Amino acid sequence: MDDSSSFDVVAAEPLDDIMQKIAEHKGCGTSSDGGKASCGSSDGPDDMAPEIWEKVKNHPCYSEEAHHHYARMHVAVAPACNIQCNYCNRKYDCANESRPGVVSEKLTPEQASKKVLAVASTIPQMTVLGIAGPGDPLANPAKTFKTFELISQTAPDIKLCLSTNGLALPDHVDTIAKYNVDHVTITINMVDPEVGAQIYPWIFWNHKRVEGIEAARILTERQMKGLEMLTERGILCKVNSVMIPGINDKHLVEVNKAVKSRGAFLHNIMPLISAPEHGTVFGLNGQRGPSAQELKALQDACEGEMNMMRHCRQCRADAVGLLGEDRSAEFTTDKIMEMEVSYDLESRQAYQNAVEQERLAKVAAKKAEMETLAQEDASDLKILVAVATKGSGRINEHFGHANEFQVYELSSSEGAKFVGHRRVDLYCQGGYGEEDALETVIRAINDCTAVFVAKIGHCPKDTLSAAGIEPIDQYAYEFIEQSAIAYFKDYLARVKSGEIVHVARGDADIRQGAFIEA
Ligand code: SF4
Repeated sequence: MDDSSSFDVVAAEPLDDIMQKIAEHKGCGTSSDGGKASCGSSDGPDDMAPEIWEKVKNHPCYSEEAHHHYARMHVAVAPACNIQCNYCNRKYDCANESRPGVVSEKLTPEQASKKVLAVASTIPQMTVLGIAGPGDPLANPAKTFKTFELISQTAPDIKLCLSTNGLALPDHVDTIAKYNVDHVTITINMVDPEVGAQIYPWIFWNHKRVEGIEAARILTERQMKGLEMLTERGILCKVNSVMIPGINDKHLVEVNKAVKSRGAFLHNIMPLISAPEHGTVFGLNGQRGPSAQELKALQDACEGEMNMMRHCRQCRADAVGLLGEDRSAEFTTDKIMEMEVSYDLESRQAYQNAVEQERLAKVAAKKAEMETLAQEDASDLKILVAVATKGSGRINEHFGHANEFQVYELSSSEGAKFVGHRRVDLYCQGGYGEEDALETVIRAINDCTAVFVAKIGHCPKDTLSAAGIEPIDQYAYEFIEQSAIAYFKDYLARVKSGEIVHVARGDADIRQGAFIEA
């Protein structure tokens, strides 16, 4: 039986019941002590109604836990856009839902459908297909919905997602529901038109260009209306917001309240990326993005209100693979058109069953380690650690091969909590350590007390230690959270015995420039 049968069950349930369950789930974000969220995007099946868990459990963007195991892909079938954002230059790329990087190829719906089958046959843990540009999917509705139609016929187990700026959303909600698009992301950067006018110079509305505060007013009204219409239909909504220091950073707390009250499931606050070479208005006028700690402070402040996504990679509009990796070069149009594709639902399901076993083992190991932490003397101390991983929730990447580090906050109360990731340039280039890259790595994880790796050479080890970041390779290939909690217990014991002195770390950089690969 294919996985889509679970969605039929959900669809058959009365809408009021589903909405009630979503509402109850949201409630857990505000009900715990001190207004602190008792759950977040790392939630498991015990934290939500089974129907909601079915929708998010193997969705790498809606579940932080799933993102270690399941992959997604975007197909670039939507080139046109109906608004202009000051952080976006589509000649370069669309920052609406992608990291700065060229969309290599635009696809027709037929090419996109073939590509999805090719990827799904090669990467059995690919569970989600998103349309996220490079423009706005709903400014290209014919191509977007044709793509969904073709894929739902040939690959019914794949979840369908789209990401939109929201301007055209109210006009397409019924079609979105008709094609069983279960997850919709709306990029909402403001609910105050005066703030909006600093982000959006114009929108294209009713066949003409509208500018300034009037444009922002129309946009925010349409976004709020579209969000309400989707949540009324039981479609899970994620809201993306770009944090732009000095423009909307403080205002995003208001945005968070506004979207929560309209039923959004998840809020994803992302850093502005504005390098001059991207050619965006913000990049060219020197608008800075937030530091790592500024971003974390805002995410922490909003977490008391609702579930926060902290693992978004601001992917390209043609990304393929696990979040944090990009396998799009393996699936260019030339290559996929030559591929013999046989879509084998059974072997995909068998592979995913094996993934679930690994995932259960990981959760059990974390739980067991957490129980021993609870027996230790409680401490208010919190530290961050960086982890080199290529997936499966394990410490399984060499320091020199990591192009990102995942960051976990360790505490007595929560054990190991995922709080973000930091992109870095590869340290190991052509077999040799690159000193300039090492400096950028240290700046990117400067707020971390330790870095967990599968392997590391003497030279970077010494440099990291000199910078106050402890390199840890003793947990190579073990589960991340279990290992991090074990390390934290040892860290607390060393502090308590006087063997080491706890030192508060400083801030860290979010990398702005282009990725440097070996
Ligand atoms: S941009 Fe963020 S939400 Fe979209 S696929 Fe990438 S990680 Fe998921």
